[in-house]
Amino acid sequence: MIETNDPGLRCWLDDANDSACDFPIQNLPLGVFTLRGQSPGAHRIGVAIGQHVLDLSIVWPELCPDLADLGPALFAQHSLNPLLNRGRKTWTLVRHRISRWLRESSPALRDNPDLRSRCLVPMDQAVMHLPVEVGDYTDFYSSKEHATNVGMMFRDPANALLPNWKHLPVGYHGRSSSIVVSGTDIHRPCGQTNPEDAPTPTFGPCRLLDFELEVGFITGPGNALGRPIDVNQAHEHIFGLVLVNDWSARDIQKWEYVPLGPFTAKNFATSISPWVVPIEALDPYRVRTPRGPDDPPVQKYLDGAWDWNFDLNLEVRLQSAKMREQGIAPVPVTRNNFSLMYWNMCQQLAHQTITGCNVRPGDLYASGTVSGPTPDSRGSMLEICWKGTQPLTLPTGEQRRFLADGDTVIMTGHSARPDLPRIGLGEVRGTILRAPGA
Ligand code: MN
Repeated sequence: MIETNDPGLRCWLDDANDSACDFPIQNLPLGVFTLRGQSPGAHRIGVAIGQHVLDLSIVWPELCPDLADLGPALFAQHSLNPLLNRGRKTWTLVRHRISRWLRESSPALRDNPDLRSRCLVPMDQAVMHLPVEVGDYTDFYSSKEHATNVGMMFRDPANALLPNWKHLPVGYHGRSSSIVVSGTDIHRPCGQTNPEDAPTPTFGPCRLLDFELEVGFITGPGNALGRPIDVNQAHEHIFGLVLVNDWSARDIQKWEYVPLGPFTAKNFATSISPWVVPIEALDPYRVRTPRGPDDPPVQKYLDGAWDWNFDLNLEVRLQSAKMREQGIAPVPVTRNNFSLMYWNMCQQLAHQTITGCNVRPGDLYASGTVSGPTPDSRGSMLEICWKGTQPLTLPTGEQRRFLADGDTVIMTGHSARPDLPRIGLGEVRGTILRAPGA
């Protein structure tokens, strides 16, 4: 096992040793923050530990005099991109240093109250920002259960998966300018739709607004143009994981997507969680990519990295404006596990680059909607309410087929096993605002 993942490690901060905590010393996710009440505050890079954020822009120069120049270059920054640029060797070095400072037995920071008071921020005093300047964003479609559900609803239940689906990770190039950090409100988009009984298309606010539960990975150094990434080397290009809500306008999507795929139905917003969890932290939770006896063999360039799925529990909760007014907590609407994905992230990266397409530091690749095999594990309202035919009833008595204005969607993710520390991804949340001009 990697030294920084040792389940026996404990932190001198008590809140980091709580078994229900997303951010124990074995996690060490990185994010970008400013201090609450300072506007405009200086952006800096922090690591989540327990209920605190450790400010790396302050602590690094003090505790790493041997590598002092890395402090401002990597951590007094608006994004993780400079660190992502450096690659695995630097990522591992940084992770080891942070892990050492935080260990119970390590006095350097523990016994320095002055430094601690300057570099350790209670999480509620940190305003989180987009962790990465995303250059390119790709969204895949790699959950067999999701693709099957959609195929059953819109095409042929007997042939739900299209002929290509088990031979390549289907995906599309998305929009990076509208990627926003958790907590950002989302305007209901307007667009063109063509209701089934209408003689001509209409224009107006989206009526079938949906979430998509996804997990994304963020890349570091990529490949030169023209040089594909080998499936068995793909993990070396991946820094870490975030939760992704790929907001989707189903009615707009249905009218516009033929023949080139999603366009305005997906380009208005994509929300991501603020903490990027290094794939090293999730290494103990790696599992094999599932294959059944009926699944066809894959092309050589995709035939590898068969142990790069992750045992990661995912949940979506929903809270309407009325629930919020009445003090009713968000209710779970789906729970599932990321381990069932048919195509894993190494295969996705190998497929995207097989043409020679180049990956760059700070790219975001989303898994596609993660759905499980049971009705309570579906990853979108489209599937949960089965195209609107099985509405959800909220504790207030309100019904939902898709999302209403004022609804808040909260996605969380964590890995846990009795013999291992919990590694959490935190959360990604967003509230729907009414359409502009509506
Ligand atoms: Mn999607």
